[in-house]
Amino acid sequence: MTEESAALYVVPTPLGNLADLTRRAEEILRTVPWVAAEDTRHSGPLLKQLGAQARTIPAHQHNEHEAAARIVEKLQAGEAVALISDAGTPGISDPGARIVAAVRAAGCKVIPLPGPCAATTALSASGLLDEHFLFYGFLPSKGGQRRQALEALREQPCALVFYEAPHRVLETVEDMATVLGNRTLVIARELTKLFESIHSLPVGEALAWLKEDSNRQRGEFVLMLSGAPANAESGEGERVLKLLLAEGLPVKQAAKLASAISGAAKNALYDLALTLKA
Ligand code: SAM
Repeated sequence: MTEESAALYVVPTPLGNLADLTRRAEEILRTVPWVAAEDTRHSGPLLKQLGAQARTIPAHQHNEHEAAARIVEKLQAGEAVALISDAGTPGISDPGARIVAAVRAAGCKVIPLPGPCAATTALSASGLLDEHFLFYGFLPSKGGQRRQALEALREQPCALVFYEAPHRVLETVEDMATVLGNRTLVIARELTKLFESIHSLPVGEALAWLKEDSNRQRGEFVLMLSGAPANAESGEGERVLKLLLAEGLPVKQAAKLASAISGAAKNALYDLALTLKA
């Protein structure tokens, strides 16, 4: 192994397309003596395909403390450990954070590898123009708590990024429309897989769009909402902009006219027009 040996390597694995495993990740997984895996049965085929000889340590949500202690023991004995989850980056809405904390607290080295993550993969193709984003991960599964969580995010002036499971996507999208309304929603589904789709629409239309075709409700989802509309974007400016776009005016001209008519900022309207047209 060319890397420093007695370290915990945090290794992202593909979201779906096996070609997305980086060369460095491959080398680490092939050469470390230990792999701590969220689900050893799930990761088995990947490790086998790489010809990895590593022994595995189960490291899932319910045994993170115990797994952390075992991992620290290996590191203190001078052995390297790679940490992987079922897909994507460990510690991002996945087990791993507690293990990393315990390893760091024990004074051992943690080496992160860059690689697949559903949130950043989805955002990069979202077309959302917000300068900042807030990664939320999974919303609460119970309706009341979910709506409360969304309410708390209402004023955030940045894009909001959520993970969601297929059996909850309809109710979540419905709550988003009720609580947050009047924004663009980008639905990224099955990223890097055969049925990958990325669709953007006003959040108020999303429930009907998903219901139109049950295939749209299948698979794994990243849901991204544009941030809280600045004053310039809401109300009159947006209303006029939509009318002009509906009349077929080009984005630049529609934003300029909507700004002149409503007094709203031209740049904000231009950005809004781009997301509406995406
Ligand atoms: N640690 C992972 C990461 O770095 O993205 C996330 C793990 S979390 C348990 C699983 C969730 O990530 C799924 O429910 C879904 O919301 C999202 N996800 C994972 N793979 C995806 C894919 N191929 N397309 C869209 N979303 C995906």
